Amino acid sequence: MGKPATRELEVIGATQVTPHMRRITLGGEGLADFPEDQESAYLKLIFPGDEGGKPLMRTYTIRHQRASEIDIDFALHDDMGPASRWAVAAVPGDRILVGGPGAKKMIQPEADWFLLAGDMTALPAISVNLAALPDDARGHVVIEIPHESDRQALVHPENIRLHWVINPTPDPTGQPLLGRVQDLPWLEGQPAVWAACEFGSMRALRRWLKHTHELPKSHLYVSSYWKIGQTEDGHKRAKQQDSMAESVA
Ligand SMILES: Cc1cc2nc3c(=O)[nH]c(=O)nc-3n(C[C@H](O)[C@H](O)[C@H](O)COP(=O)(O)OP(=O)(O)OC[C@H]3O[C@@H](n4cnc5c(N)ncnc54)[C@H](O)[C@@H]3O)c2cc1C
Repeated sequence: MGKPATRELEVIGATQVTPHMRRITLGGEGLADFPEDQESAYLKLIFPGDEGGKPLMRTYTIRHQRASEIDIDFALHDDMGPASRWAVAAVPGDRILVGGPGAKKMIQPEADWFLLAGDMTALPAISVNLAALPDDARGHVVIEIPHESDRQALVHPENIRLHWVINPTPDPTGQPLLGRVQDLPWLEGQPAVWAACEFGSMRALRRWLKHTHELPKSHLYVSSYWKIGQTEDGHKRAKQQDSMAESVA
């Protein structure tokens, strides 16, 4: 398969979902040949490099897709980089270069119960996953947010219980998210697990899951979406090293 197309999209609207989450709606002619059914797939947003250097890419999830529009939800964090800065300032008529969409990573639907975990960066993907689960799905979802006011009303099966972890300061040990997951009852039967969060949290969760529960690869997706103190480029390098170390462990 060739490299996904790069297209120029136009900002159609910008709304504040919660204090730390800004939704940018993109559309325009560039979306004309965009494939259908891409909610939860990722896009590469492309920004001009510093002083004419290499363009900077930042990865974001398609939260909603409508006939001629897509929504992207940006977590607004301290120490903003090009993507969060752009989202804060975006107004209708602005244009942005976008690559993708890349592959969707949905939770394995053939399971007895479901466990989803993540932080604000994964909230868009978790929301799409929750809405796609069958009505009789059961399990838990744990979401770390910086403030109580960042809770969102999510569509989810009745027997998937929602747990919010409030943590204003990202923690490299990953303890806030992991601790809440560890406190949950491990249900009977075959679980499917889907988690995406900060790099340290991802490693803590993955270590615990691997040491305490035997899960087939098909039922375990644990990914890091960013890394404390690193831009996306630094995070990408850390992720590559981590995956090499994991493959020889
Ligand atoms: C597959 C995938 C899907 C993603 N989907 C989304 C999405 O839908 N929404 C979303 O908001 N993010 C998403 N992310 C994460 C996003 O790509 C990163 O947070 C990215 O680094 C933000 O770019 P930036 O330009 O704002 O900051 P950068 O220039 O990358 O980093 C600047 C500084 O901000 C810090 N930082 C970066 N992100 C955060 C954060 N979330 N919280 C606190 N500090 C941070 C960095 O450590 C660094 O110190 C996704 C990542 C992946 C891999």
